[in-house]
Amino acid sequence: MSFPRIKAVVLKPMRIAFASTPVGAIGAGQGGGVETTIQSLANGLASLGHSVEIYAPLGSHASNANVHQVQGTLQVSMQEVSRTEPIAMTKGSVLVGLWDLIQQQQDRFDVIINFAYDWLPMQLTSLMRTPTVHLVSMASLTDAMDKIIISTSHQHKFAVAMHTATQSSTFVGVSSNVRILGNGIELGNYVFNSNTNGPLGFIGRISPEKGISDVVAVASRTGLPLQMWGLMQDDKCFSDALAENPLADVHYNGFLTTSELGQVIGECRGLLVASKWVEAFGNVVIEAMACGVPVIAYRRGGPSEIIQDGLNGFLVEPDNINSLVSAVARLETISRAKCREHIVNYHSVNAFAQRVEDWLVARCATSV
Ligand code: UDP
Repeated sequence: MSFPRIKAVVLKPMRIAFASTPVGAIGAGQGGGVETTIQSLANGLASLGHSVEIYAPLGSHASNANVHQVQGTLQVSMQEVSRTEPIAMTKGSVLVGLWDLIQQQQDRFDVIINFAYDWLPMQLTSLMRTPTVHLVSMASLTDAMDKIIISTSHQHKFAVAMHTATQSSTFVGVSSNVRILGNGIELGNYVFNSNTNGPLGFIGRISPEKGISDVVAVASRTGLPLQMWGLMQDDKCFSDALAENPLADVHYNGFLTTSELGQVIGECRGLLVASKWVEAFGNVVIEAMACGVPVIAYRRGGPSEIIQDGLNGFLVEPDNINSLVSAVARLETISRAKCREHIVNYHSVNAFAQRVEDWLVARCATSV
């Protein structure tokens, strides 16, 4: 899969509203990659001449856009519920509050981009006067979400976009109109480092679906130190992984801001991505590569569309720790400069914002 570079065309500036995730404030980490995507895309669209305002839970901050903060109870992230779980709306839900406010203020915008992986914004698509689109941030997780995502994609041409084709294919029967947008980062935040002798790295929420036990096992088996950065969402999966691998030299550094993270990732000789679920994209893959760090990942989900095996990392058999360990031994064959080059070419925020702009234009053209 390649993420095309769209030729820039001169367009009328759009007034764009972002509806953020209701699982946490922007900057707190519960929203994972969505938080990074929102912030970098706001910058990218602004640099193309558009104006962006963000509607997000109380406590959210973004350096680059006006943030309308809304108080309310956070939603439980869909990755924590079972496949047959019905849609739940908590009392005083921040999701309801966000969309009440957006509905009241919608005439101030040309288009609204929803980032919540939730039922309500999708259901509201037909009721909004302002064209509303949805950038789906996770792969298929529950039957109820599959149903609303698939039906929205058929009822409203170009209303739904995903990050990767692999993610899209998990929604069986989704419309072929779904846009595949990849993702993008602000390259200036990520410092290139040519050193090949550093520790192994892991970046992400410390949670079972991230394959924490496999990552720690690789540290133990290779004898290399492992630096870990990310929000501690599940203490038990972390302590279990340490108990299973008592010899692993693991350093947990907590949750860093994007700019702090961009300074340190480059120290790593390689990043390990051993996810047990289908990553919709895998922001950490492009963040590491931007710093010159090759990525070793299971051949599953978004990372399998980003990593070119042998060129900027390795794709290995899913759930096979031996294959991760043997790829670590081959890390020195990867050119760190090529890793950075790949991100400059395909995953800069500018390239991403141009793909998003193209999508918004297509959606708005069908809504008039
Ligand atoms: N992240 C961060 N600080 C940390 C660790 C991670 O800001 O200490 C960010 C990281 O930069 C990335 C996001 O968390 O943008 C994780 O996104 P990804 O798509 O890899 O996984 P998700 O959490 O969405 O499943």
